[in-house]
Amino acid sequence: ECARVVAEDYADKLPRTYDELTALPGIGDYTASAVMSFAFDERIAVIDTNIRRVLSRVFLGVESRGGATSPAERALANRMLPKDEILGCDADVADNAGSAEHVVNSTIRGGKRSRLHRGERPSVTWNQSVMELGAVICTAKSPLCDTCPIADDCAFLKAGRPGLGERRTRPRQRFQGTDRQVRGLVLAALRELPAGATLPREDADKLWKDQIQLAACIASLDDDGLIEILDGGLRLPS
Ligand code: SF4
Repeated sequence: ECARVVAEDYADKLPRTYDELTALPGIGDYTASAVMSFAFDERIAVIDTNIRRVLSRVFLGVESRGGATSPAERALANRMLPKDEILGCDADVADNAGSAEHVVNSTIRGGKRSRLHRGERPSVTWNQSVMELGAVICTAKSPLCDTCPIADDCAFLKAGRPGLGERRTRPRQRFQGTDRQVRGLVLAALRELPAGATLPREDADKLWKDQIQLAACIASLDDDGLIEILDGGLRLPS
């Protein structure tokens, strides 16, 4: 669907603005930001799970607890995103420890004072570096702090890695009485029948007390192609 819209509305070329990208089917904040940064070299904070974890640990000294990205996390990501001055190949990067530039430089070059390549956009390199650091070094459960290139700048390590690996406890969805339960009951009843057999509608109606919910669930199973509704009853698709 996304490809069709790009073909029809944008003459086969991905649009270049955040608003246009996020209006495409299936493209959310993360994908739009990643495309703008990695494909179009735009200065934009990419926020995925790895980046959230690294930023929270390094700059705030606490675990990112998961769930939806908070405004504070987004503000932190924007604040730390390096500016996009293009540095010449001979330009030294200021050694201002603790700044985003310092950390990205350390991240890329293994902690040694170093230089950025000509034409390299710091914000793009930053997004890639922080994402990679979170994927291979600063992992959720077992961060490799002993070999981490930015260990000297990490507030989380300095604080003794408080609450390492802790996540927000998600409220469990109640199962009893949900459509999921009703759909499961209908499918289970059909699976108990011999192959190709039909469950009479009056028997199906006994599966659940709330007849309106039951009818809606039977209709949704039919919509999903998981059952067939016949004149006299229900059956699994042949
Ligand atoms: S020192 Fe440890 S916690 Fe801090 S960024 Fe590196 S791996 Fe992550």
